[in-house]
Amino acid sequence: MSAVISSSAATQASEAKGSPLRRFGPWVLIALLAVLPFLPVPDFWIIQLIYIGLYALPVLGLVLLTGVAGLTSFGQAAFVGIGAYTTAYLTVNTGLSPWLTLFIGLALTGISAFVIGAITLRMSGHYLPLATIAWALSLYYLMGNLDALGKYDGILGVKGLSAFGFEIGQRRVFYGLVWVFVIGASFALIRLLDSRSGRAIRSLARGSQMAEAMGIDTLRHKVGIFVLAALLASVSGWLFAHFQRTVNPSPFGIKMGIEYLFMAVLGGAAHVWGAIAGSGIVKVLEDQLQVLLPKLIGTAGSYEVIVFGILIVLVLKYLPDGLWAFIDRRLPRAPRPVDWQGAAPLPARAKPAAGEVVLQVKAVRKVFGGLVAVNDISFETRAGQIVGLIGPNGAGKSTTFNLVTGVLRLSGGEVRFRGQRVDGLPSRKIAQQGMSRTFQHVKLVPEMTVLENVALGAHLRGHRGPIAAMARLNGAEERQLFAEAQRQLQRVGMGELLHEQAGNLAMGQQRLLEIARALCADPALLLLDEPAAGLRHKEKQALAEVLRSLRAEGMSILLVEHDMGLVMDVCDHIVVMEFGTHLMEGTPAQVQQSEKVRAAYLGTEH
Ligand code: ADP
Ligand code: MG
Repeated sequence: MSAVISSSAATQASEAKGSPLRRFGPWVLIALLAVLPFLPVPDFWIIQLIYIGLYALPVLGLVLLTGVAGLTSFGQAAFVGIGAYTTAYLTVNTGLSPWLTLFIGLALTGISAFVIGAITLRMSGHYLPLATIAWALSLYYLMGNLDALGKYDGILGVKGLSAFGFEIGQRRVFYGLVWVFVIGASFALIRLLDSRSGRAIRSLARGSQMAEAMGIDTLRHKVGIFVLAALLASVSGWLFAHFQRTVNPSPFGIKMGIEYLFMAVLGGAAHVWGAIAGSGIVKVLEDQLQVLLPKLIGTAGSYEVIVFGILIVLVLKYLPDGLWAFIDRRLPRAPRPVDWQGAAPLPARAKPAAGEVVLQVKAVRKVFGGLVAVNDISFETRAGQIVGLIGPNGAGKSTTFNLVTGVLRLSGGEVRFRGQRVDGLPSRKIAQQGMSRTFQHVKLVPEMTVLENVALGAHLRGHRGPIAAMARLNGAEERQLFAEAQRQLQRVGMGELLHEQAGNLAMGQQRLLEIARALCADPALLLLDEPAAGLRHKEKQALAEVLRSLRAEGMSILLVEHDMGLVMDVCDHIVVMEFGTHLMEGTPAQVQQSEKVRAAYLGTEH
């Protein structure tokens, strides 16, 4: 561990300032974009940049949805279409102001995205991509077949934008408007991702089990970002309609939906600036190739499609995280400035009195097909007590954990937490009541820092949502969350590793991180599934010390562990399982003397 600490300390020292490109890059980009229209740049390039901006908006949505949260949508073009058609139809037919129809378009987009998201995001796997394909196709044919929308000819004669009698439809002014939206959305997303809600969103890509155990409502967050992504697309559609002055179904079909995804993947799906890079590269390449390739080949045709096909295969093979990730990895990153010293402590829950029964497990049962993995197991834990749950591999310990914490549904029996029945509740509701856990197979977000991962544990103790984050009204609460995360990390002896990427940690450190994360939830009951696996002797001793001090504070701990030294050392009471059944229970001394226990262990692995 010391080697890891010193090497990371060394890299941190050299990276202390971060790279100039990372710090000033966005501002240089903004400055360039801002002076461009005043320079003698040909209109061709201004128009090109308008299109890049129009593409970047739906692609930004995909960065959030696909790159960060791992949800694939082919439907962005369809949402662009809703924004475009709404404003085109209403401004042409009713004479409403485009500044009003923007919001009507956003409302229609938001409602349809909410309905699609709420239905399909409940289901795991490929339902969302398939549903977005179906949605994109049906909307395309709807746009193409409705008389009111002009069928495949679309709607002509859409007005340009104007404000206070001033024409925005002019190229260079319109260019400014588009990029104000793009840069504004980019900064909003960057702020969102670096917040309590953002950390929850970043935890979605690796399955919902851990996030739910931290009390995060994963469905709500998924639907939320699906709607947000659709709204960005809708704004693009609104701009598009007033720029082109006409709409027809072709730019909103499934082909464009795929192209948006391609831009996101090429640019670097998990990076906000990758959206702009991806849109820019695709748009410029596409135009150049459209001219160049027929000349080279000698006959007309959409050869650029073939080149893009090859390009995407190459990108997926050699740069699976996209171009921006490739650059991003090479830019030193400055550690987050520690600005939370002296932050007010987060509110804490009322703790059970010493000796109070915290957890009652009564005859719980779990059947997997024909296998009775947990067979009528009963035990209880009290405040200020460490209960060990031991038994050979496959005895049913982790399954028991999952029954208690609501990850699995019981086949029988009941679980009471502080007197209330909790079986049948989803795991985030159980977490809310003060039960927090670690996982046998460590579950963390490798690309987040140690500090951010641990702050995830305090999710339920904060309240600031995505809008507060985008408007930067969450500073005080963020400081409280990080102060708590740092405190818990120091407690488990990881105070030196705050800014390390969690994925770089050794296994033992990852386990300690999970304990700190669980402690951040301010639990009354802590469930640890094999916390000492992968820890060295010194680290195990330190862990035992942490467990004892937690017990002294009145914490109730349920410990599944294979290291008998640790179990016998710290536990007050031990429950032994074998083949899903309750073999015996008692004090460490009683368990050590038990012939039955010895036979159980001798009979299997030892
Ligand atoms: P332990 O944690 O004590 O090593 P587990 O609780 O992981 O044991 O597993 C108990 C038994 O249940 C094992 O035989 C295992 O193969 C089985 N089991 C665990 N989870 C599942 C599952 N999701 N589906 C089917 N069988 C399972
Ligand atoms: Mg296990």
